[in-house]
Amino acid sequence: MVTSTSLPVGGKHILVAGAGIGGLTLAAALRRAGIAVTVFERQRTPGAAGAGITVQTNAMRALARVGLDGDVLAAGTTPRTMRIATAAGVMLQDVDAVAAAARFGQPLVTMHRKRLHLALLAHAGAVETGLAVVGYREEADRVVAKLSNDTEVAGDLLVGADGLHSAVRAQLLGKTPLRYSGYTSWRGVCRNDGLVPEDVCVEAWGRGVRFGIVPIGFGEVYWFATEDAPEGAHAANEHAHLLSLFGHWKWPAAALVSATEHIIRTDIHDRTPVTRWTSGRVALLGDAAHPMTPNLGQGGCQAILDAVALTEALSGEPDLAAALARYEARRVAAANGVVTMSQRFGVLAQARSPLFAWARDTLVRLSPSALSERTMAELADPGL
Ligand SMILES: Cc1cc2nc3c(=O)[nH]c(=O)nc-3n(C[C@H](O)[C@H](O)[C@H](O)COP(=O)(O)OP(=O)(O)OC[C@H]3O[C@@H](n4cnc5c(N)ncnc54)[C@H](O)[C@@H]3O)c2cc1C
Repeated sequence: MVTSTSLPVGGKHILVAGAGIGGLTLAAALRRAGIAVTVFERQRTPGAAGAGITVQTNAMRALARVGLDGDVLAAGTTPRTMRIATAAGVMLQDVDAVAAAARFGQPLVTMHRKRLHLALLAHAGAVETGLAVVGYREEADRVVAKLSNDTEVAGDLLVGADGLHSAVRAQLLGKTPLRYSGYTSWRGVCRNDGLVPEDVCVEAWGRGVRFGIVPIGFGEVYWFATEDAPEGAHAANEHAHLLSLFGHWKWPAAALVSATEHIIRTDIHDRTPVTRWTSGRVALLGDAAHPMTPNLGQGGCQAILDAVALTEALSGEPDLAAALARYEARRVAAANGVVTMSQRFGVLAQARSPLFAWARDTLVRLSPSALSERTMAELADPGL
């Protein structure tokens, strides 16, 4: 592995592995900064899979720095309120999203993932689809990415934005195991048709189970569910299993599950945070760098923050090593902090024992608003 302290950035041609949220944001931001970029995406149709997503204030503020906030806003909707409640319908916390948007200068936006991908793709330039980056080698003045069709392409910098199972990370940092959280998740999108209010997001907590409801505009609603479960487990009929878990809840979980044709099940993993995301002419961002549990809805947001920070570090900086050091200084500790916060929040939210669940609900219900406002302010700040 080549590690240099001073590398010239020739014609500044950046190679990006992965056209996910992070890779597309990076490509779009680099192009706006006048830096040439080529994206390689393993799938033939990038971003086609997935359900809903919340793009939070920190990510919207970062997108505004590169002129992408308007298109992302138009791809979704802005909730009026964000609630945490019990399965029985008792309200534990109610955050005024309109006041938060006014305070932090950007709203939290909920949307279908497909619409987010399309909004970013529109600015990302050409994406070479059906081509995976399978490895790379570093030469004195360039990096050469090896592609799945046995060809090679050279650039000044290779960015691994290739997600949870990143091939670029495996070569850069070695293969390290994923951490299984102890719970699995289900996600779906269905027509709303009056099932839930258009502007209220709810996460309802049971014991070792959760159900979330997120209207995403365009007459659609996204829902998610979690359950403590062994890694790799599957139900014979996921619909029926979800109805048995949530059918008796005060929330219209059963109606939403029943109205959903395609349900995605994903075991929840993260990785132990690392303090190095770059080496020589290679850098990581998003889930490739810092995969996190989805409990705070921040994985994609942090990928967006990475992409904007890397673009700003590269812009106008002729020395690649200096730019990458700046990128790491701005992002590594901040993103790793969110990995830990999200993991801890998951332990609380998944509380299984009656006593722990009661203590959790009481704590959240009685916690002073100053505490939740401080956490919100921390998460709303892109720190760029
Ligand atoms: C249940 C659940 C709910 C979530 N909810 C939210 C939320 O509300 N808000 C939020 O911000 N985040 C959320 N997340 C997290 C979010 O989905 C991820 O953090 C985010 O997608 C990471 O973006 P990324 O670009 O790093 O990786 P990805 O989105 O995974 O994109 C990686 C891309 O790289 C491609 N690829 C993989 N390997 C290669 C290769 N070798 N060469 C080329 N291409 C390759 C993949 O096909 C993919 O297109 C959630 C996650 C889960 C599981």
